[in-house]
Amino acid sequence: MCGIVGYTGHRKAYPVVLKGLKRLEYRGYDSSGVALLKDGQLNVYKKKGKVAELEEAMIGKDIDACIGIGHTRWATHGEPSDRNAHPHQSANGKYAMIHNGIIENYALIKQDLTNKGYTFTSDTDTEVLLNFIEDIQKNNNCSLEEAIRIALKRVTGAYCILIIEQDNPDTIIAARKGSPLVIGIGKGEHFLASDASPIIEYTKEVVYVNDYELAIVKPDELILKNLGNEKITPYITKLDMELAAIEKGGYDHFMIKEIFEQPSTIFDCLRGRLDAKEGYIKMSGVDDHIEQLVNANRILIIACGTSWHAGLAAEYIIEELCRIPVEVEYASEFRYRNPIIHKGDVIIAISQSGETADTIVALEKAKENGAFIFGVVNAVGSSIARISHAGAYTHAGPEIGVASTKAFTGQLAVLMMVALNIAKHKGSITTDRYSELLNELEQVPEKVAAILKDADQIKSIADKYKSATDFLFLGRGYNFPIALEGALKLKEISYIHAEGYPAAEMKHGPIALVDENLPVVFIATRDVYHEKIVSNMQEIKARKGKIISIITEGDTISPDLSNDYFSIPSTDELIAPILTVIPLQLLSYYVGIAKGVDVDKPRNLAKSVTVE
Ligand code: GLU
Repeated sequence: MCGIVGYTGHRKAYPVVLKGLKRLEYRGYDSSGVALLKDGQLNVYKKKGKVAELEEAMIGKDIDACIGIGHTRWATHGEPSDRNAHPHQSANGKYAMIHNGIIENYALIKQDLTNKGYTFTSDTDTEVLLNFIEDIQKNNNCSLEEAIRIALKRVTGAYCILIIEQDNPDTIIAARKGSPLVIGIGKGEHFLASDASPIIEYTKEVVYVNDYELAIVKPDELILKNLGNEKITPYITKLDMELAAIEKGGYDHFMIKEIFEQPSTIFDCLRGRLDAKEGYIKMSGVDDHIEQLVNANRILIIACGTSWHAGLAAEYIIEELCRIPVEVEYASEFRYRNPIIHKGDVIIAISQSGETADTIVALEKAKENGAFIFGVVNAVGSSIARISHAGAYTHAGPEIGVASTKAFTGQLAVLMMVALNIAKHKGSITTDRYSELLNELEQVPEKVAAILKDADQIKSIADKYKSATDFLFLGRGYNFPIALEGALKLKEISYIHAEGYPAAEMKHGPIALVDENLPVVFIATRDVYHEKIVSNMQEIKARKGKIISIITEGDTISPDLSNDYFSIPSTDELIAPILTVIPLQLLSYYVGIAKGVDVDKPRNLAKSVTVE
């Protein structure tokens, strides 16, 4: 979490940094700040709240510098406030630094520095690291660069830092471990950021900095080194992203834009990979490692949040189609256990940003134990994409709304193709069933478009139930993970307490919550469980719960049991989750809007969780 931007070159730095912070605001919005350096004068401005508040506070300030750094914070150490906002300045006032991540051994270092007489103006781990660097520089009488190297060898945790120095008019020093950093290369200028969105409007040539690398960035020069002070040749990649992809394009919010983009993002995900007429799926990440995948003893899926729900859906699908045992793990739990991993295990890691801290560490652990890592990631070139032995991108384009929508359906589409591909090679699926599912999958984009045409129906349902204090989401089989996802989305975007449950399990506890005030959302599409879920609806109706159902077009039974219902086009039960989640995304969006929530930046959340 947290967004970092830096600029050094011939332009004015402030407008570049400010625009960049607005693009990165999805990563945190507890506070923001900038440090600008001009004529040996280092000015730091910071403000609690969103970037717009900083912008307002900057009116009338000196913003003439051509070098600057900026930060938008997701607080880990110290409450959101002006004084805890970044950039921080070192005790001697000479350095300004921004940081994304957590310095885990900060308390010990702080104690040491306090004993030496240092005082601190914030509660952050960041200020501790900065004064640690200052102290090393003083004691060793060395350059700032050398002091940073020494300090970083002694800290544990995660960081991406950018530092500017009063006496060095055009240089930004940056370093990373565990938190992302991209450097854009312009003509006589360089741009630094947590992701490429602040950069693409100026240049498409970028360098992704790796862990334990240090960058010395001047307008005309980019030097990369490791912590041992050896030079590394920067590997320049071309960004495959357009500016329009990161703008709202006429929508009120990124979230609704991204929901409505799904017919095209799912199409992009399938394009060039799936051809139902020719009867094949081509995915180089799978095809090039097919032996490994087909012969997996077991598949372990590691993810967090919404991606974990995609993993759960994949468990049902892979076990059904490939007959390989699958386990789904929360990355944060997996990494601190002593998990049993064998050489023949395949790990599928799912992450929108490809930077999820818990997932990265879990993967590193699994890799050490000899597991084969397959990444399902949206952000091209991200850390998880690079750690993985193989993988498949979801190709959903930049997802900026904090609540994941289009990345989730992209994950489901990719995982479905991976499962079909493995099943075909393994011979665990009949030719007829294979072509049936290929056909159904190919039709998903147009069916999603059909659902979105009726978005107003969901808006009316949202208006009717917006004052509820609790919601229950129930589904069975392939739609159980979607019940979890529907509940999560509603919590995130409307702050209404919601729980997702397997519909039958509801009898073992949550049914006690049911009364005439409780809306219960049933995902009750036509599948092998349909009769069973209809019985569960009866059970809720008998207790006067308010039933909202997501049903298959033409279903004549469920509408009679429901207070409100929404029909989706008929599809195969394995593919239904990609469709059933769409009305639930819309429901959370419209309830959030009706309640006046800033849906793109809901409280306490941030996207791209780069801290533990
Ligand atoms: N740990 C730092 C803080 O709390 C940085 C958090 C972030 O990544 O935004 O200020």
